[in-house]
Amino acid sequence: MTKQDDLEQKANTSYFNLPPLDISIAFPQATPASIFPPCASDYYQLNDLLTPEEQAVRMKVRACMEQEIAPIMTEYWEKAKFPFHVIPKLGALRIVGGTIKGYGCPGLSITGSALATAEVARVDASCSTFILVHSSLAMLTIAFCGSEEQKQKYLPSLAQLKAVGCWALTEPDNGSDASALETTATKVEGGWILKGQKRWIGNSTFADLLVIFARNTATNQINGFIVKKDTPGLTATKIENKIGLRIVQNGDILLKNVFIADEDRLPGVDSFQDTNKILAVSRVMVAWQPIGISMGIYDMCHRYLKERKQFGAPLAAFQINQQKLVHMLGNVQAMILIGWRLCKLYESGKMTPGQASLGKSWITLKARETAAIGRELLGGNGILADFLVAKAFCDLEPIYTYEGTYDINSLITGREITGFASFKPAASSKRSRL
Ligand SMILES: Cc1cc2nc3c(=O)[nH]c(=O)nc-3n(C[C@H](O)[C@H](O)[C@H](O)COP(=O)(O)OP(=O)(O)OC[C@H]3O[C@@H](n4cnc5c(N)ncnc54)[C@H](O)[C@@H]3O)c2cc1C
Repeated sequence: MTKQDDLEQKANTSYFNLPPLDISIAFPQATPASIFPPCASDYYQLNDLLTPEEQAVRMKVRACMEQEIAPIMTEYWEKAKFPFHVIPKLGALRIVGGTIKGYGCPGLSITGSALATAEVARVDASCSTFILVHSSLAMLTIAFCGSEEQKQKYLPSLAQLKAVGCWALTEPDNGSDASALETTATKVEGGWILKGQKRWIGNSTFADLLVIFARNTATNQINGFIVKKDTPGLTATKIENKIGLRIVQNGDILLKNVFIADEDRLPGVDSFQDTNKILAVSRVMVAWQPIGISMGIYDMCHRYLKERKQFGAPLAAFQINQQKLVHMLGNVQAMILIGWRLCKLYESGKMTPGQASLGKSWITLKARETAAIGRELLGGNGILADFLVAKAFCDLEPIYTYEGTYDINSLITGREITGFASFKPAASSKRSRL
């Protein structure tokens, strides 16, 4: 441990050992989100559409998140630190690895896995992103594209969260246009040399295992590699000053002649299309993040408006506030039903990439709208992270952008329904004479 680590650990320890805040003094008239509000947002009774196993997963995750994460999330979000001590608790939920069967993974239905994502996100979006990157991107890539040996070697410890994974596609100069990535993989005796940079990679500052995509210099195609922490030439530096998902540790990765043995090349990644197979599934999970976030926002507003009084009456008694609440509630029901239908299409093998993209883009759009109304409803407390809504409002911004921005996902659906791809502007051949 370096001196800096030691100092940071001491600072954190004393910070989090402070006597518990007397909430009634700090926040007169309304309860903050550290005591999480009951779920009032499931108005159309989603449980009726779930199997008993899916309902049980939902309740188990909800209880853990409300009891273990809600009391600490504001402090960690504010400090932009990751709460490492909760990793074993999240691992014990047996939701990591989601739909993967065997190799110590839970083998949940996609609906069960999606509900777990939503329940985590309802309380804390950063925690759900941590799990999503690890489980629905890194683990799923190994499950879909790894060799039998790689699956046996890596998936069991990842499923228990004894090891943490990340997934590195984006580069400083290649975000939406990820298929143009420039990190190179050159074949040498016994392995490969990786050179290049990656940006925004969640969990990368502490991940034990990094799934990295690079362009094969012989074939010009995209290949995938499993890179272990502390491999010589690999560095990951935390990106500071984010306004959303502040608990997630996003990093800039530098690959300086990193040697990867042949056994750590993912045999199932032969082209960029192979990453699209993973993204189509993970987008279903990402779509359930804003659903969970919006449920939490609604639940918080519902309790707050009944607790706080103005003009001698609870805020919930004013017609304009009721209309706003109902607007939010309608959004949440529509989001849930689209998310649920997406899962069913996936389960029946009928889901198309365009359908997954429409789900992700439309649900994030509605979640942003829901968060903006919720922020208004809480007045001044709507800008305090302590009351969840301000924090969730900020957390939705990166979710609107990652796994394909709203625009890119719209264009994926647009291509599917029209037959025209419009990602690249038509070459402007003539210069304007004006
Ligand atoms: C918090 C966070 C976490 C992330 N985690 C990861 C991770 O773990 N792993 C990973 O690989 N990546 C990750 N990303 C990267 C993320 O996927 C990219 O940010 C995203 O793909 C957008 O790329 P960009 O930021 O470079 O934006 P740009 O591509 O520069 O886009 C800027 C704007 O232009 C628009 N635009 C771009 N191209 C078009 C077009 N053809 N038509 C219309 N509009 C267009 C976009 O919609 C956007 O509004 C993360 C990002 C964030 C913010």
